[in-house]
Amino acid sequence: MPKPLVKSVSTNYCVLSTNNLSISEKAELPDAVRLFYFRERNVSKNILVSACLLGENVKYSGGNNFSSKLTALLRRYDVNIIPICPEVLGGLPIPRLPAEIIAADIIDCNGQSVLAEFQRGADAVLQRAKQTHCRIAVLKENSPSCGSRFIYDGTFSGTLIEGEGLTTQLLRRHHIEVFSELNLAELENRLKKEYQDEEK
Ligand code: SF4
Repeated sequence: MPKPLVKSVSTNYCVLSTNNLSISEKAELPDAVRLFYFRERNVSKNILVSACLLGENVKYSGGNNFSSKLTALLRRYDVNIIPICPEVLGGLPIPRLPAEIIAADIIDCNGQSVLAEFQRGADAVLQRAKQTHCRIAVLKENSPSCGSRFIYDGTFSGTLIEGEGLTTQLLRRHHIEVFSELNLAELENRLKKEYQDEEK
């Protein structure tokens, strides 16, 4: 991974140029460096975003779910994007077998439980949210990690049911609001409220 270029350092802050890094490389910066980087920006504008929605090839197939509408909205509100992929953070490879939630377990299409990796990834995302003071997340709908309204039903037949992915459940238990790329109007209302409240 190329090293971020340290432009200047003082006792209070460190200005980093991360322009030469991809989103996934920024996500992998050591926490100490990331915290320095975000300290100089308004942390209330830090938002967790599924890396696949930003065009990172982290999904199980090796592709991504880039959403131009989402990225345009995030640019309009000048938020600080914290890209995350719980499944990769949990140690799963790219590509990997598709997995679905079945009762209290998460099983890949070969019948192996990947619950431990999903849990590790969810914990890592929560830790990152706390370190960067995120109160809002935008996560990919339908995923067994990131889904916020719908997930697949566990039959690997493409059937959706109402439900939440494992990371979404954990974030919501810690009062972090989770939106998806499919409810951008709600997300925009939330961003407007957040920044109006801040200006008062
Ligand atoms: S775990 Fe979430 S961020 Fe990672 S590929 Fe799946 S939906 Fe995208």
